[in-house]
Amino acid sequence: MIENVTQEQTASTTDEVVAELKKRSAFVMVSHVKPDGDTLGAGLALGIALKRMGKRVHYFQQDPVPRNLRFLPDSDEVAREIPADLPSDALWVFGDMSDTGRAGEYLPELDRANILDIDHHLGNTHFGALNYVIPTECSTGTCVVRLLREMNCKIDRDIATCILTTIMTDTGGFMHSNTTPEVLNLSAELMLAGADKEQITEEIFANKRFAAIRLLGRALEEARIGHDGRYCWSYVDEEMLKECDADGEDTEEIIGYLRSVEGVEAAALFKNYDGDIRVSLRSSGRINVQAAAARLGGGGHFRASGLTFVGSLPDAAKAVEEALVAEGL
Ligand code: AMP
Ligand code: MN
Ligand code: MN
Repeated sequence: MIENVTQEQTASTTDEVVAELKKRSAFVMVSHVKPDGDTLGAGLALGIALKRMGKRVHYFQQDPVPRNLRFLPDSDEVAREIPADLPSDALWVFGDMSDTGRAGEYLPELDRANILDIDHHLGNTHFGALNYVIPTECSTGTCVVRLLREMNCKIDRDIATCILTTIMTDTGGFMHSNTTPEVLNLSAELMLAGADKEQITEEIFANKRFAAIRLLGRALEEARIGHDGRYCWSYVDEEMLKECDADGEDTEEIIGYLRSVEGVEAAALFKNYDGDIRVSLRSSGRINVQAAAARLGGGGHFRASGLTFVGSLPDAAKAVEEALVAEGL
């Protein structure tokens, strides 16, 4: 490996990736742990397209499909098990993750030659034989659209639904700064192809369990503000989940509220349950939270990142604050 080469220099071209997709006959689409609408929607969209081309497709995901993504076509085929008769030259397509570790501990040992990495994260480690990594894309799903277009694949209703879900997930329902005119044009095309925007909005952003609303209230009660109002953070622990009859899937909205406070430049949510502490970071645009997360072994995007911390909540809070200060908080 040559060190310090930029992603642009080493990323695979659309032609190279399409040639590989055409050559292989069996595929496993891999999503990251704690799956979101991008990792899952991107894998399902490409999987459905490949099936239409007569290919054999499986979906590997360590964690169950979250309740709010079960409307996605083919999501009932997603499993942790790998079929025993999977050909040894199956291509494993990782979507929406910077390294294979994000796929979790159940991922089998793989030969790099059989790995295609499709992603839009800053700092993707280019772990595949082919690395289709485009950090300027708003979602991994829109990277997949480039491949589908090159393959002259028709974007039907099912594929359009999956892709629009990736866009709406990663743009926060067209609100984040990655919502370009091109993204809106593509979204319009996807709606014309049959994607039901209202349904996707309802499934992803509404339809919250009462437990999630109560948990949001508890987490906001615990919120603290510092650095002259530029930093807002809170936490969720086992006890709060129990108190609200909530689970990890009910935490999603909280970080957005912390970030939306007037004057806040960086926000953090510490999820202290299930063993290690998982931290979500968000920026309002000045502070690079991907760089802050990377200091502690995590990753993500300039304005949205995450990391896993092994240790106590006070230690995590201190380490994250220091990392944010080092990035200009
Ligand atoms: P989340 O706060 O979980 O919505 O994650 C925000 C962003 O950070 C996403 O792009 C994730 O892929 C990334 N991310 C979250 N957790 C981690 C982690 N432990 N390691 C690397 N990236 C992460
Ligand atoms: Mn993701
Ligand atoms: Mn993504």
